[in-house]
Amino acid sequence: MIPIFREMPGLKGKIPFTPLSDYPTPLEKMKKLGREAGLSELYVKRDDLTGKIYGGNKIRKLEFVLAKALKDKRREVLTYGFAGSNHALATAVSANLLGLRSISMLMDQINANYIRENLLMSYHSGAELHMKNDFPELMRATKTQKLLHLLKVGKAPQVIPPGASEPLGTLGFINAAFELKKQVEEGLMPEPDFLYVGLGTCGTAVGLMIGLEVAGLKTKVMPVSVVLKSFTDETKVANHFNETVRFLRSFDSSLPEIELRKDQVEIYSEYLGGNYAQFTEEGVEAVRLAGKTEGLKLDGTYTGKVMSALLDHAKKGKLKGKSVLFWNTKNSRDFSAAIRGIDHKKLPEAFHKYFEHNTQPLDSYRNGSYHKQIKN
Ligand SMILES: *Cc1c(COP(=O)(O)O)cnc(C)c1O
Repeated sequence: MIPIFREMPGLKGKIPFTPLSDYPTPLEKMKKLGREAGLSELYVKRDDLTGKIYGGNKIRKLEFVLAKALKDKRREVLTYGFAGSNHALATAVSANLLGLRSISMLMDQINANYIRENLLMSYHSGAELHMKNDFPELMRATKTQKLLHLLKVGKAPQVIPPGASEPLGTLGFINAAFELKKQVEEGLMPEPDFLYVGLGTCGTAVGLMIGLEVAGLKTKVMPVSVVLKSFTDETKVANHFNETVRFLRSFDSSLPEIELRKDQVEIYSEYLGGNYAQFTEEGVEAVRLAGKTEGLKLDGTYTGKVMSALLDHAKKGKLKGKSVLFWNTKNSRDFSAAIRGIDHKKLPEAFHKYFEHNTQPLDSYRNGSYHKQIKN
């Protein structure tokens, strides 16, 4: 049984869950990177190893959200993201494994190599891909697709919000906090003082915040923003926290009535750089250093920026003598074999530009070999 059902027995039998991964994910000490950063207790939570085909943080959310789709006898799911969305890909791969079809409604973003890989893998996983240039257009197209699919399939697709950050998906990270507590009790690391994690649609950070508080750990979550403030801010974090607690208490009223005010939320937003998915010098350097010292495969959009925040805080002496955990949210499963030889012209035309135009200049460091074959 997964920890959340043991810790919150009121949820059991009422909340659907379908496993997509083996748990716990490894918790490892980063000795060499810690030495570089001047930290004697630096650890990584290997959520890059969730999932068998494709991992990363979205899998823990999809285990709940896709279970609901199955329970409701849906045949399709529809979700949103930017063109290279890890979430849209995780949904496509996981839905495919569970016999569901997926529809991805995507929006334009700055070009990078991983967008090509993610799009080809989504295509390989049978996802129906659509792209629009702005949000109102995307919403109109979504309305049309929902109707078309209802007519075609006889049942509307389940709509999964961006990043699967709805209370049901966020339960995955409340569960992850209980999983971490057990690993701390087993002595894998001293109770963390700080936990560094990316903040996008906010379900990951919020789930960890709730879970750590309920589990009684002193760990402070350090959410490092990888999106513009207009997308996620303190109000959104507080609202999602409170909405998720209400959702939990509707199943189990014995749970504490914890609340988060927006003035209690601290977001680290100065590591974003110019925009979502726009790589930064510091982020790319953090990717290089983590790869060289620990063999971690971090990325320029999310985890590199989070690591650059951690390293900067360490440099400024904020983490001196502290126990620090880096939550690796990026997939590291190699899917290069699955996409080898797929012609990008098989994708809808709107996506061809990501293959035919240059990527951003900072996207040159290659951490693994799977980047090579994509460049024809
Ligand atoms: C989606 C994503 C995040 C952000 O998680 P949210 O729950 O959306 O805040 C962080 N890292 C990676 C690699 C992601 O794909």
